[in-house]
Amino acid sequence: MTQSVPLYIDGKFCQSQSNEWIDVTNPATNAVIAKLPKATDAEIARAIESASHAFHQWKEVAVSERARVMLRYQHLLKEHHDDLAELLSQETGKILLDAKGDVWRGIEVVEQAANIASNMMGETVENVATDIDSYSLIQPLGVCCGITPFNFPAMIPLWMFPLAIAAGNTFVLKPSEQVPLTSIRLAELFEQAGAPKGVLQIVHGDKQQVDTLLAHPDIRTVSFVGSVSVAEYIYHTGTLHNKRVQAFAGAKNHMVIMPDANKNQVVSNLVGASVGAAGQRCMAISVAVFVGESKQWIADLKDEMAKMKPGAWDDESAAYGPLISKTAKERVIRLIDEGKAQGALCELDGSDCTVSGLPNGNWVGPTLFSGVTTDMSIYQQEIFGPVLVCLEVDSLDDAIALINRNPYGNGTSIFTSSGGAARKFQHDIQVGQVGINVPIPVPLPFFSFTGWRGSFYGDLHAYGKQAVRFFTETKTVTARWFDHDIPTGPNLTIQLK
Ligand code: NAD
Repeated sequence: MTQSVPLYIDGKFCQSQSNEWIDVTNPATNAVIAKLPKATDAEIARAIESASHAFHQWKEVAVSERARVMLRYQHLLKEHHDDLAELLSQETGKILLDAKGDVWRGIEVVEQAANIASNMMGETVENVATDIDSYSLIQPLGVCCGITPFNFPAMIPLWMFPLAIAAGNTFVLKPSEQVPLTSIRLAELFEQAGAPKGVLQIVHGDKQQVDTLLAHPDIRTVSFVGSVSVAEYIYHTGTLHNKRVQAFAGAKNHMVIMPDANKNQVVSNLVGASVGAAGQRCMAISVAVFVGESKQWIADLKDEMAKMKPGAWDDESAAYGPLISKTAKERVIRLIDEGKAQGALCELDGSDCTVSGLPNGNWVGPTLFSGVTTDMSIYQQEIFGPVLVCLEVDSLDDAIALINRNPYGNGTSIFTSSGGAARKFQHDIQVGQVGINVPIPVPLPFFSFTGWRGSFYGDLHAYGKQAVRFFTETKTVTARWFDHDIPTGPNLTIQLK
């Protein structure tokens, strides 16, 4: 029998009373693996009410005790790392190696959450006036919520709720309706780690449920990760309802290849960064910008890309898995067709791809275009598939100008052996995460995930110190104590009794 995915409300994994259910499918077969309820308004209201109630107790728990919950959670996540990765593989189709990376990058954020006290230190200035000191207190906000995408079912929820909760808030998570199972497992382990009833709640659904969260007066912050149009909508709607919002959106990440780069490094890194995880990473390299004579390497790139074969999550020879859904596959194939029709040269065409024994999976083979220009839809749109488009320019200045004209600014990289070129690139580029001979420069959680421009709506980014600022409020105290109020000896003795 197909399992129905529970809600997690008020410390209980419970069945929804909803009349509307969504099929969760295995992307390698399109078989239905679970039924997901679209939570009712009453269920969402109950989750928020329970989170509000839990907040009043949780914010009074000592910061070191909140940190200890995160330490135990980190330990449990590590202990269950491999079975979490298997579960995640089954619902996303990701090969096991990618799934393990997904879980691991989330664990690293939990480690940062265990270090919460040092990130919640305020500031003090003594003697701002005679006998007067000023200092700041960093305090939690209340009920925070998170809305997550399908492509990192462990890492992205873990970007959000551990730091928010460690800072003293409570949290309502609405995971992607396409991959809800990993979130439920994350919640089970969080409970085992000693998280009190109500600090984390999970509700399921799609736009309708998100709209209910965005409008609810008791939700203080909204953290969103997903596609561009939805990020923009969430930011505008959330801020209209006076929420603090951080919305991480889609991208078009360029890698610049200088002629003095190491060819083998360029080719192997470009292949992994473009088709790895079927290109379904917000930091995937989807545009290669060849400067000058480096364009000769496109032939080598084509040979290496052609060796990459998709396959099932537990097939050790597979380079990557299927796309998440039939709709996603159809969209990628439509864009490949548009690329051909608009005049790009399709060096490698993955639109007719099969995997033995899995005829119904959402497979797309590695696809490479050269001769691409900026007016083509394969350049302008985030494809979110194993498709790499190549452009050619004459100089580093031209490459930088090209990237800065693109509306997105999530990640970029340069491959070069010139320190001067690398330094100019890191300084002039209008992109928030820059790699130098590193193709996918995702920062570790003591930094923050700092996408720019069309890839991010808001002010404070995910994880690191910026996330702690996002999940807290600063209170500034100005205090004056009078010398003549200091108790004399006998009074002090009395007070101590
Ligand atoms: P998506 O926007 O379709 O869905 C994300 C979440 O929003 C889901 O929980 C979904 O239920 C909800 N949602 C969908 N449509 C909605 C609507 N109209 N109104 C309100 N809520 C809605 O994204 P996806 O396909 O799950 O994820 C892939 C996208 O996420 C890609 O564009 C990728 O680049 C982006 N992404 C960005 C980052 C980043 O850090 N910038 C990280 C990972 C993924």
